[in-house]
Amino acid sequence: MALNGNPEEIVSILKEEIARYEEKTQVSETGSVIQIGDGIATVYGLQNVMYGELLEFENGVKALAMNLETGSVGCALLGPEEGLQEGDLVRRTGRRADVPAGEKMLGRVINALGDPIDGKGPIPTSETRPIEHEASGVVTRQPVTVPLQTGILAIDAMVPVGRGQRELIIGDRQTGKTSIAVDTILNQKGQNVICIYVAIGQKASTVAKIHNTLEKEGAMEYSILLSSSASEPAPLQYIAPYSGAAIAEYFMGQGKDVLIVYDDLSKHAVAYRTLSLLLKRSPGREAYPGDVFYLHSRLLERACRMAPEFGGGSITALPIIETQAGDVSAYIPTNVISITDGQLYLESDLFFSGVRPAVNVGLSVSRVGGAAQTKAVKKIAGSLRIDLAQFRELEVFTQFSSDLDPATKEALEHGKRLIEVLKQPLYHPLPVSRQVVILFAATRKLLSDVPLSHAREFAWGLAEYMENIQPQVMEEIQQTGELSAENEQVILDCSEAYKKQVSPTWQA
Ligand code: ATP
Ligand code: MG
Repeated sequence: MALNGNPEEIVSILKEEIARYEEKTQVSETGSVIQIGDGIATVYGLQNVMYGELLEFENGVKALAMNLETGSVGCALLGPEEGLQEGDLVRRTGRRADVPAGEKMLGRVINALGDPIDGKGPIPTSETRPIEHEASGVVTRQPVTVPLQTGILAIDAMVPVGRGQRELIIGDRQTGKTSIAVDTILNQKGQNVICIYVAIGQKASTVAKIHNTLEKEGAMEYSILLSSSASEPAPLQYIAPYSGAAIAEYFMGQGKDVLIVYDDLSKHAVAYRTLSLLLKRSPGREAYPGDVFYLHSRLLERACRMAPEFGGGSITALPIIETQAGDVSAYIPTNVISITDGQLYLESDLFFSGVRPAVNVGLSVSRVGGAAQTKAVKKIAGSLRIDLAQFRELEVFTQFSSDLDPATKEALEHGKRLIEVLKQPLYHPLPVSRQVVILFAATRKLLSDVPLSHAREFAWGLAEYMENIQPQVMEEIQQTGELSAENEQVILDCSEAYKKQVSPTWQA
């Protein structure tokens, strides 16, 4: 280096060297394992490690820096701890935990780190997204106005969900929570919605079943299945929903609409509790750590609908919570209820009495979806909720009395038919046009002269009948989402004709 003795020049070169020197040391900063067990490692050294930074062991296993203490760092292993031992070297990576993201993930089953687990080979992706990411701000958002059709009559009619909304599915075990989410995914076919199903702490067999269903119904081509099953270590279960959200954000960033299901967040909270207790963080209520609310609020806040100038994409979140004996006022359920824009409350009693999907209409709400509901459905189903509530009340009130006045009798019969019509088998999501016809038949009392045992069959059959006889009317309803007076008349006429056709079988 040719210097002409200018002290300022020497100083500047020295400064440069020093600056570069620091950079070098940062990259290769290492520490060593003091203690390891239960998926947690305590590491000495790593002076400058960041919270949430990805660390790497000599054998390639990754870990997440979770506890920054004066003399050591507590980290959660994101891989098997077999083969690791005291004194092993741990290297800083300088980056926060991230997942790969890309179009090629569609149709695949991945784990919480974004690696494929379906045996179909590696997934080529060029981008990675940070697992933890700040939710977009108020200015970048716009209100929810576009419906996200679940295809489930009871939900689309009474608790409509909009794109960008967060709607909680809550209920006891085995009440059809997962089924609602899966049906909703099936119904997104051809709707330009990318679906991500995040399974947290589920049995691998359950996930395989869901995968089969999605594959069979042709829904995998627009879906990603992210699974962190019950057998995986708590840290992986803990990051799974954030990984899912990161991939969802990748697609939202391209202006696409995404639906993400978190099944379920109760197990997620339990995984986080395990992790926290192993990290020796102090337990609070029900042994959950103090920041368990933040755990889910920062996750669900990432669901939103972006303003057009910010791409206009959206993430709709359907978190699932499992309650114990219908107790919605427990700790985790109340937390998540307060974070979401409404909840679908599923009830065991209804489920076992054959009302499936077992949506409790009284306790289910959607705080923003009304603005996004299809006009025709909104118009027809306006009275549905109140009619059902009245029916439930009357039912309790009249169960011991035999002679009822005609008005009460009629209200009871009407309510019974409504409940029948809203029953929906699995994997049969309904398009808007059919929903409109069925709801029209039910709420305009076209079923009052149909025997109760045939009410559902008639209403659903009418929709199919119209699909055959009046395809252009059905198409119009489907496309415009509105029901004109002329088309109302068409439904009435068709109902008459269809009734003539099928009523002889009723007597038999
Ligand atoms: P878990 O608590 O185990 O996760 P879950 O609440 O997610 O259960 P599902 O697994 O969705 O419930 O459903 C439980 C059972 O009920 C399944 O066997 C499913 O086939 C059945 N089921 C769910 N919804 C319906 C429906 N609409 N019609 C008929 N059967 C249904
Ligand atoms: Mg389930």
